[in-house]
Amino acid sequence: MTELADRRLLALAPNADRIQYRLDTLAKIGGLDGGGCCRLAFTDDDRRGRDLVASWMRDVGLDVVVDRIGNIVGVTPGRDGEAPIMMGSHIDTVATGGRYDGNLGVIAGLDVIETLKEAGISTDRPLALVVFSNEEGVRFQPDMMGSLVYAGALKLDEALAVTDGNGRTVAADLNAIGYLGDAPVGAVKPHAFVELHIEQGPVLDRAGEVLGVVENLQGIAWHELIIKGVSNHAGTTPMEMRHDAAFVAAEITTFVRRLASEIGRGQVATVGSIHLHPNLVNVIARDAKITVDLRHTDDALLAEAEHRLFAFIDNLAREEGVTIDRRELVRTQPVIFSPYVTGMIRQAAERRGMPVRSMTSGAGHDAQMISTIAPTAMIFIPSRDGISHNPREYTEPAHIAIGAQILLDTVVALANDHTGIQA
Ligand SMILES: [Zn+2]
Repeated sequence: MTELADRRLLALAPNADRIQYRLDTLAKIGGLDGGGCCRLAFTDDDRRGRDLVASWMRDVGLDVVVDRIGNIVGVTPGRDGEAPIMMGSHIDTVATGGRYDGNLGVIAGLDVIETLKEAGISTDRPLALVVFSNEEGVRFQPDMMGSLVYAGALKLDEALAVTDGNGRTVAADLNAIGYLGDAPVGAVKPHAFVELHIEQGPVLDRAGEVLGVVENLQGIAWHELIIKGVSNHAGTTPMEMRHDAAFVAAEITTFVRRLASEIGRGQVATVGSIHLHPNLVNVIARDAKITVDLRHTDDALLAEAEHRLFAFIDNLAREEGVTIDRRELVRTQPVIFSPYVTGMIRQAAERRGMPVRSMTSGAGHDAQMISTIAPTAMIFIPSRDGISHNPREYTEPAHIAIGAQILLDTVVALANDHTGIQA
C-alpha cells in the first residue's frame, strides 16, 4: 500500500454517533421498560427489526438477499463471484435482552461499509454483511440456527421443520413474517469472517481494558443425570439404611466444583439445575434430576472431565444403592479461531496504539459456525459489570467507537491483503 493510501486509511473512522443512533433506534422495536429488548426470532418484532436493518443495508448500496433460513445477506454490488470479507452477527434477542448483544456486530459492520463508501475507498476484495437468523434459540432450538445452516452443519429441511412449544414450525413463522427467502443458504462463501461482539462477561470490564481478540471458544458438554433412590421417613430411617437421591445430587454438585479446580487451565463446571421429588421437608428424596455443564477450550481435557465425572457417578451409585441414568444433552467441540484473522485484529489494534487482550469466549456465537467454512475471528469490547441477556446490558459509546474502528481496520486489511491465508 502506498504511504498516501495508508495515511487516508489511518484517518478513517466509523461514525460513532450514527452507530449509537441506529442501536437506539433498533432497540425501540420490542423495547422493554428499563431499556432492554425483546425481539424473539421469527416474531412480528423480529420482522420489524429485520425490515429496518435491511432498509439500512439497501441504503448503503448493498445488494441484499434473504436466504431460505431467513439470513439477510448484503454484498458490495458488481463483484459477483468474488469471495468477500464478511462481517455480521444477529439481531434477535432473548426475552429479557439488551440492545448490544448481536445488534452491535451488525450495525458496526454496516457502518464500516458506509464509512468506506463515503470516503470513496474501495477494497480489493468486496465486503459483505450478514444478519443471522435465530442466534438465541429461545423459541426454536438449536441456537445459532442461521449460521449452523449457513455453514452446512445443520440441514435446511431439518431446521425449517423444527417446532416450538406450540407446534409452530420455523418454516411457518419465517413465512408469516415474510422472511422465508429464496436465496440458497451459504451461497456467499466469505474469504474471511469477523464478528464484533460485546464480551457478555466481566473480564475486560474488571481489567479496565477495552479490546479483546477472541482466540477460541470453549467446547461444551451438558449431561442430565436422573438419580433414583428410595423415599422414606426422615426421622425413622437409620442413616446407614438410606438411598437418598438428594444426598447423591449434592455429592455430585460438590464433586463437579473440585473437578474444575483439579483439571484447571480454564476448566469450568456447573450444576445449574436440581429437581427433587417429592421435595418435602421430612421425606428422604426418592428422585433427583440434575444437570452438569462442563466447558473447556481443550477437547482432550473436556473429555477427561466427562470421563472422571462418569467414573465418580458409577462409584457413587454403587456406594449409595441408587441408580443414576445419564443423558447427553449437548456436546460441542472447542473452536480455535484463525491465527491469520486474530493476527490481523492484533495488528490493527497495534497500529492504533490500543492494547488488546487474548480471550476465550464462554458463550456461543455465530462466528464459531462460520469458522468451519472460512478463516474467522472475533473482536470483544466490554459489557459493564459483565452483564448481558439483561435489560441492564450496557457498553460505553467510547468503547463501541473503538470496537468499530478496529473492525474497520481489520476488515480493510483483510480485504487488501494478498500474502495469502496462513490459517
Ligand atoms: Zn450474541
